[in-house]
Amino acid sequence: MPTFVPYIGRFAPSPSGALHFGSLVAALGSYVQARACRGQWRVRIDDIDPPREVPGAADTLLRQLRHYGLHLDGPVIYQSQRHEAYLAALATLHQRGLSYYCDCTRSRIQNLGGLYDGHCRDRHLSAAGAAIRLRQTAPVLHFHDKLRGRIDASPALAQEDFIIRRRDGLFAYNLAVVVDDAAIGVTEVVRGADLIAPTVRQLALYRQLGYKKPDYIHLPLALSPSGLKLSKQNHAPALPMSDPLPLLAQALGLLNQPLPPQWCAMRLECMLNWAVDHWRLDAVPAMPAP
Ligand code: GLU
Ligand code: ZN
Repeated sequence: MPTFVPYIGRFAPSPSGALHFGSLVAALGSYVQARACRGQWRVRIDDIDPPREVPGAADTLLRQLRHYGLHLDGPVIYQSQRHEAYLAALATLHQRGLSYYCDCTRSRIQNLGGLYDGHCRDRHLSAAGAAIRLRQTAPVLHFHDKLRGRIDASPALAQEDFIIRRRDGLFAYNLAVVVDDAAIGVTEVVRGADLIAPTVRQLALYRQLGYKKPDYIHLPLALSPSGLKLSKQNHAPALPMSDPLPLLAQALGLLNQPLPPQWCAMRLECMLNWAVDHWRLDAVPAMPAP
């Protein structure tokens, strides 16, 4: 008999600012999908990059999630407290000969056209002042997205020996996200389509580390009136702490989900439960409506 694997989903914001409407779409999509699968919904604060962190943002975004009725399971995970796990994964890769030090400058790589050429693969450098790269022996060139079907990566990008620990000692996003998702037992990653490109790199790490890979769903992105992706970089406004229903309704609309009749008069929990009961993953568009 096949063993039953409980569904575990997650939302993993970076504390570089408060949540905006675009983050609400990703949070809501992953939440409703997890609840519709009778699974757990975990929240992780991706605070591995202190220079990009905004003081207080982590607490703000947790408060915003609560205000919008998105209640999480288990303790919040902080990447800043997971350094030992990242070091252990780096040690595993090193022992397997699947990583190497690289002291190439940014300008050298820019002169190559931006993609790394494996220059330091066999230079046997030591750690001092060097970044660590993954030695790609089994690159992943495509993956299956449950919404979008087969996604082919650009081969050059997928095969690049990408950085897993930066020269300044910070752990790379791709390493941290894979180590953490595997540790929590995430079975399905539901996130915004802006993270399609790094997925093949993350899958290469799953392979090299021998972890079981999750399923993937990349949700449509919310666009600003001028057609740009809503993001902290282009100053999308923070989710207001006023009545959460109108923006939840708008986010469900963007995900092409039905709305309950008379939703404006509903209690927050009732509206979310209704959304879970009526959730149709196959109705979610790959692209946002214009
Ligand atoms: N922390 C990442 C971000 O906010 C997302 C991590 C992920 O979902 O893989 O962009
Ligand atoms: Zn190098």
